[in-house]
Amino acid sequence: MRCSVARNHNNPERVTERHFPSIYSNEASKKQNQVRKCVVCSKRGKRRESRYYCSQCNVGLCVVPCFQIYHTKVDY
Ligand SMILES: [Zn+2]
Ligand SMILES: [Zn+2]
Repeated sequence: MRCSVARNHNNPERVTERHFPSIYSNEASKKQNQVRKCVVCSKRGKRRESRYYCSQCNVGLCVVPCFQIYHTKVDY
């Protein structure tokens, strides 16, 4: 067991790198309103879908506030 440390050395890449939200494009799939489940919301027991995702992490995220939460908290 380890106390939570406020240092950076133990952070996963998503917290230390710069990631930007991307939007799903309908053009490739021709489907309407492609969405992904937001991983932050689903971890909190909420069902929420977003058209935005992080292409580097390959996870669906709400732009606000989940994208920031996911990329700034180790234990989101
Ligand atoms: Zn979310
Ligand atoms: Zn990311």
